[in-house]
Amino acid sequence: MTFEEQNYSQCFAAEEKQAHDSQAFQFESNKHLDATAEELIRSTSHIKRFVERWQADPNFQEQMALNPSKTVSHYGLNIDPEEIEPLWDRGDGEKLDEAASVSESVKRWEEALKFDPVQSVKAVMTIVKDPRYHAWRERQIARTASQFLPSFQGQIAHAPVCFELSKGCSGGCWFCGISAPRLDDIFYYTPENAKLWRNVLEVMKEMLGPVAGAGFCYWATDPMDNPDYEKYCSDFHDILGIFPQTTTALPLRNVERTRSFLKLSQEKGCLLNRFSIISLKMLDQVHEAFSADELAFVKLVLQNKESKIPKANAGRARKRQQGKDENGLPEQGTIACVTGFLFNMVERSVKLISPCNADERWPLGYIVYDEGTFSNADDLKVLLERMISNQMPLSIQPSDVIRFRRDLQYESLPDGFRLSTRIKKFNFRNDLYFKELGEVIQQGDKTVEALVSLFESFGVSSARTFDTLNLMFERGILDNEPEPKSMK
Ligand code: SF4
Repeated sequence: MTFEEQNYSQCFAAEEKQAHDSQAFQFESNKHLDATAEELIRSTSHIKRFVERWQADPNFQEQMALNPSKTVSHYGLNIDPEEIEPLWDRGDGEKLDEAASVSESVKRWEEALKFDPVQSVKAVMTIVKDPRYHAWRERQIARTASQFLPSFQGQIAHAPVCFELSKGCSGGCWFCGISAPRLDDIFYYTPENAKLWRNVLEVMKEMLGPVAGAGFCYWATDPMDNPDYEKYCSDFHDILGIFPQTTTALPLRNVERTRSFLKLSQEKGCLLNRFSIISLKMLDQVHEAFSADELAFVKLVLQNKESKIPKANAGRARKRQQGKDENGLPEQGTIACVTGFLFNMVERSVKLISPCNADERWPLGYIVYDEGTFSNADDLKVLLERMISNQMPLSIQPSDVIRFRRDLQYESLPDGFRLSTRIKKFNFRNDLYFKELGEVIQQGDKTVEALVSLFESFGVSSARTFDTLNLMFERGILDNEPEPKSMK
């Protein structure tokens, strides 16, 4: 008897590139660089600025083709266009990301690009304190591995926790992948709120251990909407040992505040933050307001329409495009990067979430497994413990109804069965036991207990059936979505 997993990797080169290019999918956090790496990144800040302008602005590309020296001078770029020629297209078919490394500048730039903060988050995530959370997160990652293209999957940090410090967002972006509502309320740093905040962080540290530091303090909110955001981040650093990464679409609201924040962030060891660039005008203003050196460690996420970076097919972008045959959005639909706890500190609420492709059931691109509210740290501990014990068993339970995930295509084979998505297939073959088991699970109406007993009557030991079901459980094949609320 055999079980194997296969990727359809060869089919997806073009789509993988698209997902890889879509910086909206990325999550970044602390990374302590050595002096050489820091110097490397700083020394390429004008190349970084050139690349941002190139990717965001077709007009700039045209100007470069006509008069490179005049163009770089006009945009205040301290670079020699000849030296970085492989990074730009003069119309002879060369593309930016296919450029050959020829000059020292280009080589340094390519070295700087290897700095990958997602890996540092993943490294932190290996030290998970609670084995139930650890196993649950691994199962969610196993599930998403057959739902997202490998390169896309690789960009999702599956961070353990995030905190909304406002209710809603003033950004109002038409494409918001998590459909942030309008800004409605703010979690101000009052003595009472500060105490609650620090207590909540202590609870997360106690329950999750060091991995709680891989969290961050925004979701369907913009950090700069909260005038006390810096204080919350400083507490986060104080208690969890990491200064959280920040993404904001509002860096221009108060340039001096943003500048001070970047300084604080760097002083505390968080070297990489992100600005979402909503329009070309905003890019002009950001490049005007901040020097290339100041933005050496700030990734610009180019969301302006000219940049042609596809929006995630989730939230408002998905809703706006629904019903159109060719909606121009990639099939991969989420910007969610948390497999863990989503807090809203205004509401004092927590949701247990994990990314998925947005659909009718989960239009925001994440599954909500559980949710609840708390009023203080003691309440919160009880709530989290309930979520962990209800949602994160270490193995299948006798009363579980066993079904395959609804996105898996079931296929009966002469010697077993196959489950497929367009990314991956799972083969259970070379044993008629698999064939029978697949048929029964596909019916989707039996508990573990009933299924084990049925197979015992066929002469299959309960241990064997349990083992097979647990294998499916660990590989994220079995349906564990919560029932829709209306069905409860
Ligand atoms: S994309 Fe970000 S800034 Fe824009 S509305 Fe959504 S949460 Fe706010």
